[in-house]
Amino acid sequence: MRIAIIGTGLSGLATGWFLLKKFSCKQRPSITFFDHLGVGGGASGVAAGLLHPYVGATAKLNRYGLEGFEATEKLLNLASEKMGMPVASYNGFLRVALSLQQKKDFQRSAFKYDDLLWLEAKEAKQKISGLSFHPALFIKKCMAVDCSLYLEGLWKACNEKGAVLERQEIETLDELKAFDHIVVATGAFVNRLLTPQKLPVTEVKGQVIDIVWPNSLEPLPCPLSSQAYLIMNKGKNSCTLGATYERGFQSAQANLKMASGEIMPKALALLPALEGATVLNCRAGVRASTPGHMPIIQKIGVNVWVITGMGSKGLLYHALYAEKLVDMMKERQACHSF
Ligand SMILES: Cc1cc2nc3c(=O)[nH]c(=O)nc-3n(C[C@H](O)[C@H](O)[C@H](O)COP(=O)(O)OP(=O)(O)OC[C@H]3O[C@@H](n4cnc5c(N)ncnc54)[C@H](O)[C@@H]3O)c2cc1C
Repeated sequence: MRIAIIGTGLSGLATGWFLLKKFSCKQRPSITFFDHLGVGGGASGVAAGLLHPYVGATAKLNRYGLEGFEATEKLLNLASEKMGMPVASYNGFLRVALSLQQKKDFQRSAFKYDDLLWLEAKEAKQKISGLSFHPALFIKKCMAVDCSLYLEGLWKACNEKGAVLERQEIETLDELKAFDHIVVATGAFVNRLLTPQKLPVTEVKGQVIDIVWPNSLEPLPCPLSSQAYLIMNKGKNSCTLGATYERGFQSAQANLKMASGEIMPKALALLPALEGATVLNCRAGVRASTPGHMPIIQKIGVNVWVITGMGSKGLLYHALYAEKLVDMMKERQACHSF
């Protein structure tokens, strides 16, 4: 069986892996990935790397959040094994309550879930040097993922089982007629390949910036957020700050001035000592957003399958939904049943 997968982001690679893993050796399909930008050339290569099951303004446990986290953790272990080094670190995540509403929401979650800890302003300040004086929610179940390394590890795992990559942009699905099945994993750009049927997916541009970490500040022991998030980079001398949420954008290209102008004031509200920090660069990607903020996996033609709609939770959901999609493909079901 020959299967074409369009897109080598988190969704495409995870789907490829489960297709290669879930069939016995004899029945193992031959997988060809198509991506003109190469592995992680889309939103997945730009993702800041936060993985936790409390994404969203109110810090409520996400639907299938624990299942998603567990499924991703397994693939992170696989990628770490393939790369010979950890592709993620497990240090928790501090969500600072700057507003009264955040304080209410975060406190409610802290009471409800065992793996969340409420920290009064003094305790939070002890944890993070230079933090403005506010209480915070500490999420123990959070990993900071090095997305480039993770994607490389996933690709390696697929490649070792025989998958190949063609650096080619697919203009229409007719180009892939020679394949028995096609998986469309093109993220936010899914509707450009689907005719006449369209999915309820909107494109939301996101940008992150990297700054030089000031010598006057201790490196962050864990990622930090409120209206912006901050994640220390590997060498501890730079930090990624995100993100913008832009609908109806004119260009998908990075715009350093615009992104810094939007993100820096939000970061300064958390850490005033970042004032004047040098901005190194800016990266942009486009998220696939759905009305219910949940991914879509669907059969949309005789042999065409789609995985998209990861929104801001690609790391949380890609493995869980990719595995479900492969189960659907095996069973030839049109819809998933969670
Ligand atoms: C700034 C930013 C920060 C983010 N931070 C986080 C985070 O911290 N944690 C988190 O969980 N999520 C985060 N996200 C969301 C996450 O990046 C996405 O949910 C996830 O990457 C989506 O993966 P995907 O594989 O579905 O799509 P993509 O990664 O976009 O992959 C689609 C691939 O398809 C290829 N493609 C498209 N059209 C074609 C075609 N016609 N022919 C061939 N190839 C094609 C593209 O080149 C691309 O490589 C962030 C997103 C952005 C933009």
